[in-house]
Amino acid sequence: MKNYTILLLCFLWAVSARAQTDTIQKIVPGRKNTSEQQKKPYVILISADGFRYNYAQKYNASNLLTLSNQGVRATSMIPSYPSVTFPNHYAMVSGLYPSHSGLVNNTFYDRDRHDFYTMGNKAKVADGSWYHGAPLWVLAEQQHLLSASFYWVASEAAIQNITPTYYYVYNEKIAIRDRISAVVNWLNLPAEDRPHLITFYFPQVDHAGHLYGPDAPETAHEVHFVDSAVSELTKAVKTTGLDVNFVFVSDHGMTNVDQQHPISIPAAIDTSKFIVSGDGILVELYAKGDADITATYNHLKRQAKDYDVYLKTNVPAKLHYSQSDDWHNRIGDILLIPHYPKVFNLYNKSIHPGWHGYDPNLVKDMHATFFAWGPAFKPHTTIPAFENVDVFNLIRSILGLEYTGKTDSTDKLANDILIKPMK
Ligand SMILES: [Zn+2]
Repeated sequence: MKNYTILLLCFLWAVSARAQTDTIQKIVPGRKNTSEQQKKPYVILISADGFRYNYAQKYNASNLLTLSNQGVRATSMIPSYPSVTFPNHYAMVSGLYPSHSGLVNNTFYDRDRHDFYTMGNKAKVADGSWYHGAPLWVLAEQQHLLSASFYWVASEAAIQNITPTYYYVYNEKIAIRDRISAVVNWLNLPAEDRPHLITFYFPQVDHAGHLYGPDAPETAHEVHFVDSAVSELTKAVKTTGLDVNFVFVSDHGMTNVDQQHPISIPAAIDTSKFIVSGDGILVELYAKGDADITATYNHLKRQAKDYDVYLKTNVPAKLHYSQSDDWHNRIGDILLIPHYPKVFNLYNKSIHPGWHGYDPNLVKDMHATFFAWGPAFKPHTTIPAFENVDVFNLIRSILGLEYTGKTDSTDKLANDILIKPMK
């Protein structure tokens, strides 16, 4: 009997685990491409999280090197500050620096809402009211050009009440083969139902980079996994007969940190007076009362070793992370930024060997990857480093999407690499 009880418990556990993971495709009914939009090109925007600017060469990702050799390769792409996942995925699709989009960090405090956003909280991630600006798929859908997402930061949130027409709630349960099939199925839909903008996302390289470091064989293994999967995806897409444009990017790089000597959170921070947020490479202090800011800042400044202390008002302008950039009042009043390769031990846990989040102007290892190939792109073209917010205007230009809102995105990238940039 005992064995049956265990079996039954296992079965119930499996059923409940499955119920917790939503792997079902979401489809918004009633949307169609207009006949005018059906003539537009196709773009698949692929991100491999933490795929450092030199990983393809370092690990001989032969498929990515061959594909980008046919089209465009940037020597690197400069992430926005802080060089972490959520702000940078959103910067590329919104054309806004993190301070301007409101997605200022993976975790942050919103003073007006009296609430935290955190990438680990599925309900917050899926709540469109946290996101400002208009990501590419929102523009596309507003202009009756359909979009689809096999993951992208914020793609499962209704921003301005709009999600992509086809999307999935983020999970790591769906096999890569099934994800590639889904993309092919989308591209085989009738022209009026077929998405012209598709986003696709790989988490593996970042996971390995954190756990084992950027130079580890485990990281090399995941780079090769992504390399093979992109090759499979391009071959599978070819079977549709559509001449699709591919943009392969990452959000940031990865570097080795001093994991043996992390910095403790300074005793000068009184947590009854400040809300503490952030991670090991950017600690943000939100004052409960303005009167405490100056004294704590001065105290921290006197003690600071291996890190810089800034008031929100005196953060270097190049980071676009100061008071004047804080459009949504979400940056901390005091910021602690460790000197590379130091990290704070904010949560009293062991420190992983690989990290990102540093100022990409100071730490080249933070730089990301940009490759592009397909009919819209100039062949055999290499370009120097550029800021990742320019990806927004690049894809707008390919798809002919209008945008009248504020943006940090320039036309330089589109003008440099497209055969016929939009006027
Ligand atoms: Zn990461």
